[in-house]
Amino acid sequence: MSLPYPRELVRSLEFIAEVCNRRRAGELESAASLRAICAEWGFPGTSGATRADADATWAHLDIVERLWDGDRDAVATLVNRVFREAEARPHLVRHDDHDWHLHGLPAGAPIADAIVVDAAMAFVDLVRADDTARCKRCGDSRCDRMFFDQSRNRSRRFCSTTCQSRTNVAAFRARASSV
Ligand SMILES: [Zn+2]
Ligand SMILES: [Zn+2]
Repeated sequence: MSLPYPRELVRSLEFIAEVCNRRRAGELESAASLRAICAEWGFPGTSGATRADADATWAHLDIVERLWDGDRDAVATLVNRVFREAEARPHLVRHDDHDWHLHGLPAGAPIADAIVVDAAMAFVDLVRADDTARCKRCGDSRCDRMFFDQSRNRSRRFCSTTCQSRTNVAAFRARASSV
């Protein structure tokens, strides 16, 4: 498989990156904050998320970050571990406005498991395509945000144009002061 990836796959990866980024930034803590980010991104089945669901979700983010940062073989091993521990049962569903797509767990499964299994399913395709390197962190070390690089030649280095221009300005100043 090569670009463009299916929209659901990109959305799953961008969603989980945003959850990790906001959690690190201290913006995700309460059950309400989990419900809000899931509603914002259209992650289904989460409107009743409790404090326990939120805490379980935050506890799963460590393995998500390891998926994000891992090399291909490590990611494959971790994906299998996530599926095993959450007892994933992939099945095709069609609901609301969404045509046939995969759900990893039955409806009513724990929300934290649904979130981490959804992320793991997205990584399946990246492993098969040997494309896990598209899961990156911002090249500005003060930022370090996770982002999914959709550029054709996998050349994107920054999470945003803000970080890119801040780094360019810093490099320009460094060059200017060394002459
Ligand atoms: Zn669905
Ligand atoms: Zn950044």
